[in-house]
Amino acid sequence: MNQERLTSLIETLDYGPAPESEAKTREWLKSHGSKFSHYINGAWQPPMKGSYLKTINPARSEEELAQIALGTKEDVDAAVTAAKNAFPGWSALPGHRRARYLYAIARAVAKHARVFAVLESLDNGKPIRETRDIDVPVVIRHFYYHAGWAQTLENEFPGYRPGGVIAQIIPWNFPFLMLAWKIAPAIAAGNTVVIKPSKSTPLTALLLADILLSEVKLPPGVVNVVTGDSKTGTMLYEHPVPWKVTFTGSTEVGRIIRKGTAGSGKHLTMELGGKSPFIVFDNADLDSAIEGVVNGIWFNEGQVCCAGSRLLVQEAIQDDFVKRLKRRMRKLRVGNPLDKAMDMGAINNAEQLKKITELMDIGVKEGAVMWQPDNVKCPPGGFFLPPTLFTGVEPSHTIAQEEIFGPVLVTLTFRTPAEAIQLANNTRYGLAASIWSQDIDTAMDVARKVKAGTVWINSTNLFDAAAGFGGYRESGYGREGGREGMYDVLIETDHTPSEAGGRPEATGMVAHDRPAGDQSEGKADTNDMIDRTFRFLIGGALVRPDQMGSFTVTSPTGESLAVVGEANRKDVRNAVEAARGAFPSWFESSAHMRAQIIYFWAENLAVEKERFADAIAAQTGCAHHTAQAEVDQSISRLFDCAAYADKFGGTVQPVLGRRLVIGIREPVGVVGIRASDESPLLALISVVGAAIAMANTVVVVAGKHALTAMDLVQIIQHSDVPAGVINVLSSQKPDAIARILAEHEDVDAIWFFGNHEGSKAVEEASTGNMKQTWVSDGKVIDWIGVRRERLLLKSTQVKNIWVPYGV
Ligand code: NAD
Repeated sequence: MNQERLTSLIETLDYGPAPESEAKTREWLKSHGSKFSHYINGAWQPPMKGSYLKTINPARSEEELAQIALGTKEDVDAAVTAAKNAFPGWSALPGHRRARYLYAIARAVAKHARVFAVLESLDNGKPIRETRDIDVPVVIRHFYYHAGWAQTLENEFPGYRPGGVIAQIIPWNFPFLMLAWKIAPAIAAGNTVVIKPSKSTPLTALLLADILLSEVKLPPGVVNVVTGDSKTGTMLYEHPVPWKVTFTGSTEVGRIIRKGTAGSGKHLTMELGGKSPFIVFDNADLDSAIEGVVNGIWFNEGQVCCAGSRLLVQEAIQDDFVKRLKRRMRKLRVGNPLDKAMDMGAINNAEQLKKITELMDIGVKEGAVMWQPDNVKCPPGGFFLPPTLFTGVEPSHTIAQEEIFGPVLVTLTFRTPAEAIQLANNTRYGLAASIWSQDIDTAMDVARKVKAGTVWINSTNLFDAAAGFGGYRESGYGREGGREGMYDVLIETDHTPSEAGGRPEATGMVAHDRPAGDQSEGKADTNDMIDRTFRFLIGGALVRPDQMGSFTVTSPTGESLAVVGEANRKDVRNAVEAARGAFPSWFESSAHMRAQIIYFWAENLAVEKERFADAIAAQTGCAHHTAQAEVDQSISRLFDCAAYADKFGGTVQPVLGRRLVIGIREPVGVVGIRASDESPLLALISVVGAAIAMANTVVVVAGKHALTAMDLVQIIQHSDVPAGVINVLSSQKPDAIARILAEHEDVDAIWFFGNHEGSKAVEEASTGNMKQTWVSDGKVIDWIGVRRERLLLKSTQVKNIWVPYGV
């Protein structure tokens, strides 16, 4: 063969079709008459109201794949009841028995892997290459991994137990994978579940149900699948029985669920949207980075919560990089998802296709330049879109800010690492980031500074059950996978808060909890205190209240103890600004230094022990020796916090492939705290000490026992705590101030220790930026026995950094 002929053959070589067989999957659909009931209590139960929805094939949008039951209140109730009834038996099984069931699920899924992969491609529209090589294997891995937690639970999580029924709501972009992420940890821990898949992708959940029933023989009621639409989802999260709601979906719906569950006492895990940066430095391996971009944004047609949808390229290589990228985009193939040679399949549904194209139009209107490879053709009859690239994008453009959730990449440039970080964090989301640089210093520095729950270095879109996944900021809270994910499906056994006014269960007395007739013993001489007027601590300075308002702190018998400032919205604003300003350097300070400061704080508190005891006794009316004990406990608690500052750092997990995942416990950010009205000093020290030990900055508002908080200000000032790290306000209406803090967009978490109404109000108000909440809901917290780990877990969020090694 001559050279010319050979060259022409190579140039004209094209892929032939390589379709995966649908036969077995179609057989399974037919075996159910292509019409599915709910899976409740280990049996197929038709919808009580008899309504069905259809699920279609997005690659052939006229084709109905099956009908699925439309869940109503009665169906949800039946499923929750089944889960509730199954809970005692399931949770009482030895961990080893549960481990065997999870192991059996993993094995059964592996056995039917191809049927699952084809079904997922048919129902979702994603290419078989992905469902076969990623979705299904990661599902299997998840069940195996969590079989291990079921086995080791008692040893690894002493003092924790499953809470009962968990309500689970999942989206359409990774239907089977999200199901596994939710079900595996929940049932490994001993909970039972009701899961509601998305109405457009319910089929793999139903196939799994079939296998649980016929092959795994999972006890009835442990896993229940209720299909339906968003209303079914609402009925599920509103149901009074589940102790927890885990939701994966859009931030918008996450907000609705947060509001809808406010005041219910339900725990939440929120896995929400993203707009993740994909950062390429000029010293990156560019060929690898180009493949990374392809994976980052065109994997699953960009319908990936952690898609690298914002490409940030260092200016010097921008032209070259975009040129290479366009060349690569011309090679992408869009078409039949069941064709093994396809890179991209169909968008999942018509609504999503419309949303994506509308955002693309906005991008063009706002002045960005859109490019699509003219040789990439989309087949007719389905919801297809070609890979799309936007250049000339400004950070303020809608397409640079909004989650497009489609195969659309926007590019921006940066000059320095600092600018890259600033651009990367210029979003309300914080799900993931991908960093490309051959320089380990640059990569790790950016990894630390970028606000995201998952960071991939020289890689992207990697998942492993041993590495927890979850967001920062408006990408949500809680984790799925890893050890960190297990905490989210367990509750503490040794801390069951009693109802308001009830006694804490642990031994030891809280300061207010004193025997009658003990009033006068060691009572403080309150006369000294009457004339003292306290100011707020804001940004390291003693500051008068904005409106010069004040109120009097009194003893239980009505004696005036001190006049303290009354905070308003402006004081809150100033305090938050100070806390935000102090955060970057406090975050970067060494744990050793933070520990030293907290030890010094304890030392200074010890010197003033008597004064604090007097004030506690005066405010609460407790015996002096009880107050002294509280001061001693507080000093000890500060030692705890200092000790843990450099001992609650994180983990390193080997995961599949040549990678290590470094799980770092990072601070949540600026924490707003409504101080407890119990144990004035110990409660305050416990939460503030833990928060700052873990590198958060705080704004505290004290109410009933503001005298102690204000006394503490002086100690803080003399303990080398940097300005702005701790800010203290007081108010006669601390619940109202807490609400302002909860509404503040620059506060990352709100902790509220007070009554039910106030707890509900801050939970409702937290939805603006989806801040993390910790509320006592009118229950008394045992501040003496409080688990240190609990304080530390509340003060941190895990960032998992994936570091590849070898070649
Ligand atoms: P969605 O929020 O519209 O729906 C998710 C689920 O919630 C579906 O089951 C839906 O029926 C249900 N739902 C919708 N409205 C509801 C309501 N008012 N009350 C109760 N349930 C309701 O999301 P989607 O369009 O299915 O999925 C795409 C979104 O999911 C994207 O924003 C994506 O980023 C996000 N996502 C996040 C992660 C993560 O781990 N962070 C993973 C996958 C997808």
